[in-house]
Amino acid sequence: MLHWLIGFAGAAAIAGLAYLKGSLSLSGMMSAVIMGTIFYGAGSAFWFGLLLVFFISSTLLSRWKKERKHELEQSYAKTGRRDAGQVFANGGLGMLVCLGYVIAPDPLWIYAYIGIMATVNSDTWATELGSLSRKPPRFVLTGRVVPKGTSGGVSLLGSCAALAAGCCIGLSAWLLLQLGGGAGGSQGASISAATDTVTAIGAGAVSLPGLLLLGSAGGFAGALADSVLGATVQKMYRCRVCGQLVEVKQHCGQLTERARGWRWMTNDAVNLISSVAGGLIALWLGWSLGS
Ligand SMILES: [Zn+2]
Repeated sequence: MLHWLIGFAGAAAIAGLAYLKGSLSLSGMMSAVIMGTIFYGAGSAFWFGLLLVFFISSTLLSRWKKERKHELEQSYAKTGRRDAGQVFANGGLGMLVCLGYVIAPDPLWIYAYIGIMATVNSDTWATELGSLSRKPPRFVLTGRVVPKGTSGGVSLLGSCAALAAGCCIGLSAWLLLQLGGGAGGSQGASISAATDTVTAIGAGAVSLPGLLLLGSAGGFAGALADSVLGATVQKMYRCRVCGQLVEVKQHCGQLTERARGWRWMTNDAVNLISSVAGGLIALWLGWSLGS
C-alpha cells in the first residue's frame, strides 16, 4: 500500500509541475498521474524511472532554443502541451507491458519496455534536435531535400539524436536495474526473484553493452518506423494559407483541409505502431543475447 502512495505522490508532484509549466494539459496531467502510480505501484522504480527519463529529457529539450523551433512547432502534433491522448500514446503500451511483467514475470517484458521507451525518447529527441539542423531535411524514402517540418523528413542531426536518445534509455535501464534491485513488483521477495530471473536468463542482455544495444537499436528502428509512416500513410492536412502539409487541424490561424493518408492513422496511432516496432526489435535482441 505504501508503495502505491509513494508512486502516487511522486507522479503527482512531477505531473503537477509539468502542468504548471505548460508541458501537460489538465487531461494530460491526470493521465500521467495514473500512469506513474501504476508504473511505480505495480512495477518498481525501474519502470517509473525509465518513464521519468523520457519525460524529463523530452520536456527539457522542447524548451531548449524554443524561439528557433516556434515556427515548426505549429506543424507538428507531437510537440508542445501533451494531452491525455498523447500521454497514453507515449506510455500506454509501456504500461500494458509493465502489467504483463507483474502477471507473468519474464525478462522479455523488460526488453520490450526498453525498446518502447527508447522509441518514444528517440522520436522526441530526433524531432526536437533535428529541427535545429541548419541543413534542410531529406525525405526518408527518396533522399530528396524537403522543406523543414515535412513529415517523413530526416536529418543527420536528428538521426544522431535518435541514437543518443536510445543509448540514454539503455544506460538509464542499466543504472535502474543496478540501483533498484531489478524490475520486480511491490513485494520484497518478488523483487529479488525478478532480479534472479533477469540475471539467470538474460545475463548478456542486461549487461551495460547489451542494454545500450537494445536501447539504441530499438529506439532507432522505432523512430525510423515513425518517419516512414509519416511519409506514407499518416493522416495529413494542407494549410489553406501557406500550402504546407501539416499534422494539425489548424495552421496560420486557419482551419486546414484533409490532404492524404488513412483516416485512422493519426499521429497518436503512428506513435503507437512505432513503439510496437521498437519494442519488438529490442525484445528480439534481448532474447538473442540472453539465450
Ligand atoms: Zn500555414
